[in-house]
Amino acid sequence: MRAVLTGGAGFLGSHLCDRLIAEGWDVLVLDNLVTGVATNLAHLQGHPRFQMQRMDVTKFIDVPGPVDYVLHFASPASPVDYLKLPIQTLKVGSLGTHNTLGLALAKKAKFFLASTSECYGDPEVSPQSEEYWGHVNQIGPRGVYDEAKRFAEAITMAYHRYHGVDTHIVRIFNTYGPRMRLNDGRALPNFVHQALTGQPMTVYGEGQQTRSFCYVSDLIDGIYRLALSSEHLPVNIGNPQEITILEFAERVRKHFPNAPPVVFRPLPQDDPKQRCPDIRKAQRLLQWQPKVGLEEGLGITLDYFKKSFAAEKK
Ligand code: UDP
Repeated sequence: MRAVLTGGAGFLGSHLCDRLIAEGWDVLVLDNLVTGVATNLAHLQGHPRFQMQRMDVTKFIDVPGPVDYVLHFASPASPVDYLKLPIQTLKVGSLGTHNTLGLALAKKAKFFLASTSECYGDPEVSPQSEEYWGHVNQIGPRGVYDEAKRFAEAITMAYHRYHGVDTHIVRIFNTYGPRMRLNDGRALPNFVHQALTGQPMTVYGEGQQTRSFCYVSDLIDGIYRLALSSEHLPVNIGNPQEITILEFAERVRKHFPNAPPVVFRPLPQDDPKQRCPDIRKAQRLLQWQPKVGLEEGLGITLDYFKKSFAAEKK
């Protein structure tokens, strides 16, 4: 199998790249490093089945030679990143998805889209199942990501129905683990960075909004299974263990005995009040479910953050 993986230098892309290489695939990563980090793939440099090319996939993509699978993971994905890069986010979800689908069609390759629970917006039902159409404010600040991914899903289904491309769509819920950027602005890296620098953790709103955090190895396993399946409609992958953000901050704070108490800051506009995946479809179709609990996953991730922070300071 030869795969083209866009966004392979990102948090999830790099873990997926590792998995594909471990499964014996050849992988060509395309990444413009706008939010990805080359060091996420440093350990693969020189590997005979790994290549990386710096490329902006919103422009025409030319890849010589045969390709069996195109996996489109390129996109800013943290709210802070996509608020800073609104046009790039819209372009990579729309033009980038069009170009990567075109590549898959031209190469007679399979196609995999990394979509998101953000397609459900600020959901009015919980947990969110794949049948729910969502509650998205398309002109709000998060609309640049949400609508780009909703368009990406629409064009992926169109290439499947009209051109017969063998496509797959995963809706990824909040995920955490090693290689998240400490400065990406998301809840966990923010809390950890604040704790490591002696600042109080900033909880937005009253911290009563919920999220459900999936450890990265579980997520990648679900993605790999979906990539090999015959399912074309979107599938949620995430951990249904739901927790309020305040409780989550306190769980992280326990790992930093000297951390000051949390402080409360205004809730960003359109911040979803609840988010929890209904994973029955993944359980049924892929025989998949998460195995790593929050305490175990946090332990591994906080170790990673502490080590990389210490290395950075040297
Ligand atoms: N959040 C917070 N403090 C922070 C960063 C985030 O309370 O320093 C909250 C944010 O408002 C949201 C939740 O944590 O309700 C998860 O935010 P994140 O940016 O990780 O991703 P999201 O799930 O919103 O895409």
